[in-house]
Amino acid sequence: MKYRRILLKLSGESLMGDKQFGIDNQRLSVYAKQIKEIHDMGVEVAIVIGGGNIFRGVQAEEGGMDRTHGDYMGMLATMINSMALQAALESAGLQTRLQSAIEMKEISEPYVRRRAVRHLEKGRVVIFGAGTGNPYFTTDSAASLRAIEINADVILKGTRVDGIYTADPEKDPTATKFDVITFEDAYSRGLKVMDMTAFTLCMENDLPIIVFDMDTPGNLRRLMEGEQVGTIVK
Ligand code: UDP
Repeated sequence: MKYRRILLKLSGESLMGDKQFGIDNQRLSVYAKQIKEIHDMGVEVAIVIGGGNIFRGVQAEEGGMDRTHGDYMGMLATMINSMALQAALESAGLQTRLQSAIEMKEISEPYVRRRAVRHLEKGRVVIFGAGTGNPYFTTDSAASLRAIEINADVILKGTRVDGIYTADPEKDPTATKFDVITFEDAYSRGLKVMDMTAFTLCMENDLPIIVFDMDTPGNLRRLMEGEQVGTIVK
């Protein structure tokens, strides 16, 4: 197995499937099956989900709302997604724990690093909800932070595109894909892998990031088996 412990980052938007808003149950169950597949191979899996399908603080600010207030709403949105994924993972037969960065004791455990690690060792999938618990951050930053804290071997950023390109492949047909790129090279070329806070955290702590297409079934497994999938930044 290439990786022993991973942190999978999914965007909120990826949960929408073909819908314009909210959560697509079918998409969730497809993700859950793929996560179960690698869990059954013995990989310890932690997950961070975004909230962009429901609410983003920046957008709230554009509408005149206080940014901090909007960011807390965004963090709550990640909890809705986390609970939805938790249910899907449990229907797929996995044991899970949800830990929130904002205390919500009726529905989740508080974030406690040592407990999270213990859950992983016991074979439970751990979902980290409510981002970092702080406004002005993103769930990419939360994913980087938690991955470093739990000593994950890699962050897997599941997206709609199959890696990092020289330009946006949805806009520029001449764009080519990188299999491997260094942090320095990605930075100097101005490629958008994650936001700068998240990117810097990974770079400074030697945590590789793999950007890959989560919507192609089997990709997660192939990555665990050491196949070349997506782009690795290291
Ligand atoms: N957010 C925050 N602090 C965090 C993580 C998230 O304030 O540590 C808020 C922020 O408003 C963000 C929203 O939650 O816009 C949803 O998260 P994000 O945009 O990262 O979700 P994604 O784009 O991955 O769906």
